Amino acid sequence: MPKSLYLHVPFCPHICPYCDFHKMRRNENLVAAYLDKLEHNVLKLYERYPTKLNTIYIGGGTPAHLNDQELWRIVKIFDKTWGLTASEISFEADPLSFDKKRLEVFKDMGFNRLSIGLQSSQDNVLKFLGRLHNAKQGLQALDWALQAGFSVSADIIASARGQDLASDLESLAKTGVQHISVYSLTIEANTPFAFRNIKIDQDKAADDILLTKEILSSFNFKHYEVSNYAKTGFESKHNKNYWQGGYYLALGPGAVGFLPAKNYIGNRRANAHIKNWLVDTGQEDYFLDAEEYIYDLVYSALRTSEGLSFEQVYKLTGVDFMLRYEQLVKELVDLAMLELSQTHLYASQKGLLQINGIVKRFMDN
Ligand code: SF4
Repeated sequence: MPKSLYLHVPFCPHICPYCDFHKMRRNENLVAAYLDKLEHNVLKLYERYPTKLNTIYIGGGTPAHLNDQELWRIVKIFDKTWGLTASEISFEADPLSFDKKRLEVFKDMGFNRLSIGLQSSQDNVLKFLGRLHNAKQGLQALDWALQAGFSVSADIIASARGQDLASDLESLAKTGVQHISVYSLTIEANTPFAFRNIKIDQDKAADDILLTKEILSSFNFKHYEVSNYAKTGFESKHNKNYWQGGYYLALGPGAVGFLPAKNYIGNRRANAHIKNWLVDTGQEDYFLDAEEYIYDLVYSALRTSEGLSFEQVYKLTGVDFMLRYEQLVKELVDLAMLELSQTHLYASQKGLLQINGIVKRFMDN
């Protein structure tokens, strides 16, 4: 049974020029239709999976762009089903979507972890990224969230034009947040940045990954996944379940889940975008057999400091990983891309920078 659930809220106050997530500006009718459909889907999914959830992640979009009344409606829908009592309930918010008073409302709703889209602590970078908040407002929001007792994660975008990454990360680390996600800016097709022909210096982006690790390690953050850093005990339980190949439920337009499936290891089910989602069409199922599941797992687990567990592969697929891939593993260990223990396989620093190439080698094997 899945023990995690992701809920996608696609509404944003403003569309950022680099973003290719499923998102849109809100209008009252659309939000009302979304909430009606969500209620229907929650009841249906709960009937099929009346499980006890360990983690819930409410992401977007900008979920905090819903007003309190709309958020309470979601809480009440959950109260009728799984409840909002999971040990980790993460809620994404941007710095302008709350003040001290609203944080108390978030607490009453049951959220215990806030993921805040800071993106940078430098005004010139925030301006380049087209964000609505400035550095002072962003850092103030983190401070309020910490004072209110939330476990706080902040997102930073690296390799942005004009950014002093070291000083950006230092300012953030000094705030006391317990978790930091650092994503390299990528230029996705059909985004305003792509139309403006903005380019990323790939060599600098690779250097930024190493610099990030150096700076955040000096503030006692553990690099536990290629883009994620945490103080001890503050790793995201929800994301760890993804990376370890666990099942999870998905609700909302554009959300992707991983469900148990008869005759397969699982079904990666992608919900349709909002127009089709509202009328229950366009959902896509992708059934993974043992081999495909292993490629997925190699891709995600090798990006984590916990690495790929042979026991986990065997438990879900019945495949003895080392028996199946022994030659290839030896070759990649000799090339210093992978590191091997009795029970796990890890990517080296060099391997982490070439993870797609490593997965391809497994797929071609
Ligand atoms: S707030 Fe987040 S989801 Fe919305 S447009 Fe900006 S980056 Fe995309």
